Amino acid sequence: MSNGKPKVLVLGGGFGGTETATYLAASVGEAAEITVVSKEDDFLFRPNTIYIPFGLDVKKLMFPLAPALGKKGIHFSPGTAREVNPDSKTVTVEGYHGGFESLPYDYLVIATGAGMRPSDVPGMEQFAHNPWTPAEMSRLGEGFRGLVERGKAGERTTAVFLVPPNNKCSGPLYELVFMLDTWLRSQKARDWVTISWTTFEKTFIQAFGPKMHPYMVDDFARRGIDAHNEWVVERERGGLVYGRGEVIVGVGIPVTRNLQLRYRQRVPGLAHGYGSAGAPATPFERDVEAEYRLSRFFFVTTEVTQRRILSGSASQTVGAPDLNINLKARWEY
Ligand SMILES: Cc1cc2nc3c(=O)[nH]c(=O)nc-3n(C[C@H](O)[C@H](O)[C@H](O)COP(=O)(O)OP(=O)(O)OC[C@H]3O[C@@H](n4cnc5c(N)ncnc54)[C@H](O)[C@@H]3O)c2cc1C
Repeated sequence: MSNGKPKVLVLGGGFGGTETATYLAASVGEAAEITVVSKEDDFLFRPNTIYIPFGLDVKKLMFPLAPALGKKGIHFSPGTAREVNPDSKTVTVEGYHGGFESLPYDYLVIATGAGMRPSDVPGMEQFAHNPWTPAEMSRLGEGFRGLVERGKAGERTTAVFLVPPNNKCSGPLYELVFMLDTWLRSQKARDWVTISWTTFEKTFIQAFGPKMHPYMVDDFARRGIDAHNEWVVERERGGLVYGRGEVIVGVGIPVTRNLQLRYRQRVPGLAHGYGSAGAPATPFERDVEAEYRLSRFFFVTTEVTQRRILSGSASQTVGAPDLNINLKARWEY
């Protein structure tokens, strides 16, 4: 408070940081010294990044922060916040060209945004597109264009969209799946691509309330998208966009307080590309597990697994089905 004014330091130049800084400036005027620190020079209008995979130039979504904040009497300090030091009430900021400075604060707002955590689901980080940043959206666009190229080469592909458990922002993925359908139609490529959708949500786009569900069911059906709610992805081995690996999803059904049924299966429709290389032998796997809680700590589980080799299409089977029944016990403490 060297000039007698409290110093407010806002970390992050997105919606959270800029709205906090501008509302505060509007309400306290010159009574406080407000500084926004951001690792980007520009504000990014993130909601419209969904258009990047379909050709939008990201520059159209970027607006320089310094002049916009300056007009409101807010300082802009470019750099990456590296450390908050609550004892000295300072934040260590790394400048664009290396070098560190220590910015003092009386009040600190941290609005550095959210990100994806694909490592929560085995395989998701290596094999899936996890679109959140503009760069990831660009890569997704390459994947989409690849679907068309492969279709032209005579290959059928499957694009699987997954909303993994605990996701708090599924809306953009719904937008992307519908836009992919529309875009593929415009490219006359829709017939070459099977689109599947699975979400852990109880109802489609649950954040908007249960009333949306029937509309979404209709829209998925109208567009020929194979859609499932209350399915939880467990592992992912390269099935997304090209449908070349495997995606296992499961659903848990509580039968009584002590009995839980769990069903797992490869995402339906994930029959892969049967291009000129011919039909791959695709193992089909489904698994039903019943878990009974004997006491607070002990559980017994019966598991029935069915595997068979598929060939040609999802409905044709060759080879005898392979059935395994396992009985397991486990305890939790
Ligand atoms: C594809 C997509 C579509 C969306 N569509 C909608 C929609 O239609 N409607 C809606 O309400 N919401 C939508 N959202 C969500 C919305 O965009 C976010 O909730 C919002 O952008 C979050 O703003 P934020 O300021 O918290 O974070 P961000 O926008 O991520 O901003 C964080 C800021 O902090 C900066 N930063 C990060 N780390 C540091 C650091 N260490 N030091 C300094 N600066 C740092 C970043 O450069 C950035 O400027 C969408 C999100 C996505 C990804």
